[in-house]
Amino acid sequence: MSDVSHSVDLAGIGAGPFNLSIAALADSHVPSLTTRFFDRQRHYVWHSGMMLPGTHLQTGFLKDLVTGVAPTSPHSFLSYLVAHRRFYRFLNAELSTVSRAEFSDYLRWVAEHLPNVSLDEGVREVDFADDHFRVTTEHGRYRARHLCLGTGKRPWLPAFAEPLRGPRCLHAESIAEMTHDFSDQRVVIVGGGQSGADIFINALNGHWGMPASLHWLSRRRNFQPLDETAFTNEYFTPEYTSWFTELDDATRQREVLAQKYASDGITPAALLDIYQRLYHRFDVLGEPRWAHLLPHREAVDMDSIGEGFRLWTTHGLTGDRERFDADIVIFATGFQSGLPECLAPLQDRLSLTDGSITVGDHFMVEWDGPPGHGLYAVNAGRTRYGIAEPQLSLMAWRSAVILNHMAGRAVFDIEDDPGPVTWRPVKDRNA
Ligand SMILES: Cc1cc2nc3c(=O)[nH]c(=O)nc-3n(C[C@H](O)[C@H](O)[C@H](O)COP(=O)(O)OP(=O)(O)OC[C@H]3O[C@@H](n4cnc5c(N)ncnc54)[C@H](O)[C@@H]3O)c2cc1C
Repeated sequence: MSDVSHSVDLAGIGAGPFNLSIAALADSHVPSLTTRFFDRQRHYVWHSGMMLPGTHLQTGFLKDLVTGVAPTSPHSFLSYLVAHRRFYRFLNAELSTVSRAEFSDYLRWVAEHLPNVSLDEGVREVDFADDHFRVTTEHGRYRARHLCLGTGKRPWLPAFAEPLRGPRCLHAESIAEMTHDFSDQRVVIVGGGQSGADIFINALNGHWGMPASLHWLSRRRNFQPLDETAFTNEYFTPEYTSWFTELDDATRQREVLAQKYASDGITPAALLDIYQRLYHRFDVLGEPRWAHLLPHREAVDMDSIGEGFRLWTTHGLTGDRERFDADIVIFATGFQSGLPECLAPLQDRLSLTDGSITVGDHFMVEWDGPPGHGLYAVNAGRTRYGIAEPQLSLMAWRSAVILNHMAGRAVFDIEDDPGPVTWRPVKDRNA
């Protein structure tokens, strides 16, 4: 490791899509800021552990790293298509959604082209001293005026499953990282969101070999669709997000819960695909029914029996306890926020709620540092900014908000003209 300390205006920890968006916009539009983004991935893949065949984006491809605020940027998805000489074929393919594999390759292309992104350079430690953030990476030391935290979220497993974690009891986020053999195995998937659906489709298709049985359990009252209708999509606009931040804490939390299926449901296309596959296999071809969907089941306990497991659930309507004997259990149970280890030296200076940072105006983290030193965070302010915060939809806009604030001027136009819905109360109106 080099002993020399490099100075930058902004250091980014992690270069997942959210920080990569800031890196891309800073590169093309804010040359006055020196920036450096570090990611520990050597070969850039977007959620590599979930890169399964047939998986698609839940959002449109124009919601890329930059287009929402800088449509002429060289780092747009359209620039990627043109650079790869497949713009016309992409149009002819009439894809309603881009595959996750293609979007991941787009992100890789941007990350590898940007001079301000360092791959294969994990951040080990971040501290604040001598009026600077001190960032220690695997290869060097940096002094930074501002910091942007973009390390993503951690997979969440129910506490009862943690001690059993292994190749046969795993979280969805790592399923594509190992080879599995489901042949003649009793497989249970827990979790009724998009990841559960993607794994169910692949298991049903025999991607890991044909299972003896396949049970898909969901705590939800049914296999709920993603609400991607026009007025629901208004939640994913700068106008709505700005209004949302003005609400009080309790109201924001209540609204986020009520809007769950605007971001956490399964795409209608995937649901129909599953239904049609089940119909063909079990109704048309008449195979004995070995795949089962069980909503309203909350997994509550699990123990190991020999090489397998016994999983207990409670029925959401009747309270009945049910038992599932399985050889392989996959938890598609989502992600949680948490403080990255490299931030430990700063921990005492952060305002934490239940172990998570608090995000305020301009996506800045509340901390007791001196003025003029912004600690920004992306994908960490769901209760502050609403359900768009962990999604791709507004990432370019959020990056523009952060860069405008850091630059101290309106580099990007982040204002939105009023849409068809009146969110704010109106005192007097002649109807
Ligand atoms: C399987 C999956 C599919 C999704 N699909 C969609 C979708 O279609 N539409 C949508 O709107 N949202 C989607 N999301 C939600 C969200 O858009 C993504 O999770 C998105 O990747 C979040 O971006 P991020 O940059 O915050 O975090 P991540 O993508 O998790 O990236 C974090 C990065 O930080 C790096 N890192 C972590 N710690 C360090 C460290 N100490 N030093 C250096 N680097 C570090 C990691 O290597 C990683 O590259 C999806 C989520 C998942 C899990």
